[in-house]
Amino acid sequence: MALDLDKIDLVRYSRQLPLLGAWGQVKLLESKVAVVGLGGLGSIIAMYLAALGVGKLIIVDYDVVGVDNLNRQILYNTGDVGKPKALVAMERLKSLNPLVEIEAYNTKVTRDNVDSILRDADIIVDGLDDWYTRLVLDEYAWEKNKPYVHAAVDGYYGQVTVILSGKTTCLACITPKPIPEPGCRVIVAPTVGIVASIEVMEVLKLITGIGEPLTNKLIIVNALKPSIEEVVVKPSLDCSTCRKQLLG
Ligand SMILES: [Zn+2]
Repeated sequence: MALDLDKIDLVRYSRQLPLLGAWGQVKLLESKVAVVGLGGLGSIIAMYLAALGVGKLIIVDYDVVGVDNLNRQILYNTGDVGKPKALVAMERLKSLNPLVEIEAYNTKVTRDNVDSILRDADIIVDGLDDWYTRLVLDEYAWEKNKPYVHAAVDGYYGQVTVILSGKTTCLACITPKPIPEPGCRVIVAPTVGIVASIEVMEVLKLITGIGEPLTNKLIIVNALKPSIEEVVVKPSLDCSTCRKQLLG
């Protein structure tokens, strides 16, 4: 395919073009990435993806901005308290990079609406704090063969892995049992900053083909040391989703 360099803002992306090349930048421009959950993780994921120059961002959150979000959710200002996160985020991201198309959904992702919201997405990124919704995304991503970048944070700790349908474990296999109930967790901004940045790097690698994707291993970040531990994660015969992959 011929490179259409006219589509690239060479000044805006001049500090990354030597790394990614024009081809990598075009790949970003042609990509559509969904960020589900626009809290601490989602704020950074969406802002970095917009800054990098993805073509389209699909952003989803059903909540409104609260004062207690502002210690880490850097998409929002104090004056945004009470407003829907998805709509505030859309304006903020447009002002950060007007070249990026933004599609915002002020709703909760469910089995019933997941296809209508995420049909267009090439990659799905987890900015959630709710394992039930994560599993809806996992099931959908697996079925539709879309890469799913998962992360979770708690306190000073976080985890990240990349799930590829038919090639890695599914998320259900690494979900804590019993499934943790959604709720308020304690968290500091740097933890989400580290973990969300790793997620964005994984998206960048998936889109451009640079580096090696974080597949078949879960990394566990301990921000207090700091350290990153790698745990090998494999498909399980006990899981109906993974079993199809193991048995063909
Ligand atoms: Zn599984």
